[in-house]
Amino acid sequence: MSFRPDVVVVGAGLAGLVATHELAKAGKRVLVLDQENRHNLGGQAFWSLGGLFFVDSPEQRRMGIKDSFDLAWQDWQGSAQFDRFGDGSDGPGRGEDFWPQQWAEAYVRWTNEGKRDYVRDLGLKSLTFVGWAERGDGRAEGHGNSVPRFHITWGTGPEVVRVFLEPVLGAEEAGLVQFGFRHQVDALLTVGGAVVGVRGSLLAPDEAPRGERSNRDVVGDFSIEAPAVVVTSGGIGHNFDLMRRNWPTDRVGPAPEHMIAGVPAHVDGRMLAISEEAGATLVNKDRMWAYVEGVHNWDPIWPDHAIRILPGPSSMWFDANGKRLQGMSGVPGADSIGSMTQILSTGYDYSWFILDQTIIEKEFALSGSEQNPDWTNKDVRLMLTDRILGKGATGPVERFKQHGEDFVVADNLADLVAGMNKISRGPALDPADIERQIVARDRQVDNPFAKDAQIMAIHNARRDRTGKIMRVAKPHKILDPEHGPLIAVRCNILSRKTLGGIETNLDSQAIAADGAVIPGLYAAGEVAGFGGGGVHGYNALEGTFLGGCIFSGRAAGMALSRD
Ligand SMILES: Cc1cc2nc3c(=O)[nH]c(=O)nc-3n(C[C@H](O)[C@H](O)[C@H](O)COP(=O)(O)OP(=O)(O)OC[C@H]3O[C@@H](n4cnc5c(N)ncnc54)[C@H](O)[C@@H]3O)c2cc1C
Repeated sequence: MSFRPDVVVVGAGLAGLVATHELAKAGKRVLVLDQENRHNLGGQAFWSLGGLFFVDSPEQRRMGIKDSFDLAWQDWQGSAQFDRFGDGSDGPGRGEDFWPQQWAEAYVRWTNEGKRDYVRDLGLKSLTFVGWAERGDGRAEGHGNSVPRFHITWGTGPEVVRVFLEPVLGAEEAGLVQFGFRHQVDALLTVGGAVVGVRGSLLAPDEAPRGERSNRDVVGDFSIEAPAVVVTSGGIGHNFDLMRRNWPTDRVGPAPEHMIAGVPAHVDGRMLAISEEAGATLVNKDRMWAYVEGVHNWDPIWPDHAIRILPGPSSMWFDANGKRLQGMSGVPGADSIGSMTQILSTGYDYSWFILDQTIIEKEFALSGSEQNPDWTNKDVRLMLTDRILGKGATGPVERFKQHGEDFVVADNLADLVAGMNKISRGPALDPADIERQIVARDRQVDNPFAKDAQIMAIHNARRDRTGKIMRVAKPHKILDPEHGPLIAVRCNILSRKTLGGIETNLDSQAIAADGAVIPGLYAAGEVAGFGGGGVHGYNALEGTFLGGCIFSGRAAGMALSRD
């Protein structure tokens, strides 16, 4: 290869593209290597909903939401619950949260002061309403967003990718950037503790469409030297063995036996061990952000393809034994890890939503750019006809209802429970017991106040303007035939984000065991726990992953541009 790069970037996902964009802006020559083909540029971000966490944005203010750095930082700390500080030094005895906490504060400040302008200057715009994800565990100082902060990108994930990819492709044309597709990095080259390049396997050409699994046939090898390497290889979400090995059994219960994949097959986690081999420190490996509302994709793109339901608060939630989940973590969309802990405590790895047609129409959204063609294609007409004015749920949700193996639809409760028992992976549910719990819940909707935590949460969610207009059904009795048919969904655990990873300082430089930086080695995006080796701590506030890739990729690019 005649191109002599200043920097090699390993991984052409969002974090890699952002780092490359910053480097090319500064006139640096960048070689971007990826094990996949050109169709996959942008990695996971392409499939995302493009949800971005902004604090005190004009969109929030227009919705009457009062937000501030102080409130967001309180929420972040309540969610992260950083508690690994070792001896408080930055040396060998430092804790795993030494850098993550500093990243967190810097990142939350940026979401308040600079992030929105940075992406808007590149042409990215958000929808006018703001979603309320992870509504919290019920404590002011606990986990969750006190206010809506989830800003969906107009154009969803592909647009997030486009605004960085276009300038990078311009730099490719100008000769500053070169891509090496089907280049799988197997090792980092080191000399005297410094990283000086990469070595790897050339994979056989494969024209698989974006997202589909490609071959791993090795047809050659390569070795490239460069003054610096930025690792942006993503998380471990399609490597179930590694997930199970790192699973936080003590905190949330046994690793799920049946898991489905919320990410494509290239999210294999290999670069973590490869980086560790070169001296990088891996921290917070037991922190991950899997979800409990996964359904098998009836029209899969990658192996075991899972889609996450982004639920409103009204579906009733039952564990595998048919017992209603309790408290705020029994409210869909409030406290992901709390819900996971309740579900896994049964010894089973799935749970059930029971809802009705009114709820599915108003409250079911599906994560993923391909599941939201109106927003993804910036199609105002489709948005009006399918999402806002149309009868029924959106087309993609209706198709899941019709074809999805996890969905049961029935006109009466006896038939619904019989259908659930047919697809159960555990105990048969008792229809009388389920009916008793639904009737008890239904009695709570006769007044505009209630003692049931979920009904209270529904009333609260409808006080938010977006919630009332678009996301939360008016409280009603689930067994009222007017709102039928009844629907049950078997919710599976799906993999998604990796919250721990390569420890880095605020310039995205990898840190060795003794606390010193490793010359020549940088890491950004999901492989670095979205900054520092775990900017989220134990829990995430959502919309913070793409942003974490942007913030940490930008930090790496800017630091290397200074050198
Ligand atoms: C369906 C879906 C919805 C999501 N929705 C949101 C959302 O709304 N908001 C949000 O904030 N986040 C969301 N996320 C999460 C977010 O998209 C990801 O966390 C983020 O895009 C990760 O980017 P990355 O650049 O770190 O890694 P990736 O996108 O995984 O890219 C890594 C790249 O590195 C390559 N690679 C890996 N190992 C090697 C190797 N050894 N050699 C060469 N190349 C290698 C891979 O092939 C890949 O192309 C979503 C994710 C998914 C899948």
